[in-house]
Amino acid sequence: MKGVAWILSVGNELLIGRVVNTNAAWLASKLTFLGYSVRRIVVVPDEENDIVEAFREAINRADVVISTGGLGPTPDDITNLAFCKALGVEAVVNDVALKMVREKYEARGYALTPERIKMAMMPPGATPLPNPVGTAPGILYESGGKLVVLLPGVPKEMEAIFENHVEPLLKSRGPPVYFSEREVVVRGVPEADIAPVIREVMRLDKRVYVKSHPRGFEVNAPLLHIHIYASAGSKEEAEALVSKASDRLIELIKLKYGDRASISTG
Ligand code: ATP
Ligand code: MG
Repeated sequence: MKGVAWILSVGNELLIGRVVNTNAAWLASKLTFLGYSVRRIVVVPDEENDIVEAFREAINRADVVISTGGLGPTPDDITNLAFCKALGVEAVVNDVALKMVREKYEARGYALTPERIKMAMMPPGATPLPNPVGTAPGILYESGGKLVVLLPGVPKEMEAIFENHVEPLLKSRGPPVYFSEREVVVRGVPEADIAPVIREVMRLDKRVYVKSHPRGFEVNAPLLHIHIYASAGSKEEAEALVSKASDRLIELIKLKYGDRASISTG
């Protein structure tokens, strides 16, 4: 595990149920596969106090903080300014970011307005990340061993900036982490009965994680997809852990439920 990560999702639309928080799910999966332990996904409205408070707590408790939303030109987009407030620093216009924003607008014949200049504002010492899809640059800020990245809310923009600039950086840090996963499908045993078996398999090694997903009907026709997942310092080691866990799981289910259980692996 390379460190603790928090994801901050900024946007009223997420809290009124109009937009599903796909950004957080996408980032959580990316960060997990990069070897980070994602411990919180926090959703806050487009309100300065809420954003400031969320950033302060996240910076305190996580090694890596990624936010999405609120970097655009409209007055409700205030994430960059709230982040500066959270740090207790004055927001400054970053020349490199301003050039990025200016070029995007000038290419389409638009002038720089105060709303557009706002997109180039960030804490002193921050690095703007080019946005190949939209106009607002991402913001990367590092201090005291903490890494904070602010990304736009539009999924295509968020994904492009993360994959181009953040993922390579996180990959290059710390030891490499490899993952392996496997699914075991069990028919005929209710999920509640499998729970103690799963707990026992997870005790094999703390790098092994096992989760059951009910897909059938708990009482009449139980069907469980059991997801086994392991992380380790090499591909072989991760695969060996998953194999060992899956063998043990199948063995225990057969021992306890015999012919009642029908098991397949995928
Ligand atoms: P823009 O420059 O487009 O204004 P922005 O950084 O200001 O980008 P927001 O205004 O917060 O981002 O969000 C823009 C759009 O992106 C939202 O209307 C919504 O459709 C989508 N979006 C925002 N946050 C999320 C999220 N967490 N998950 C999925 N989609 C999101
Ligand atoms: Mg916006």
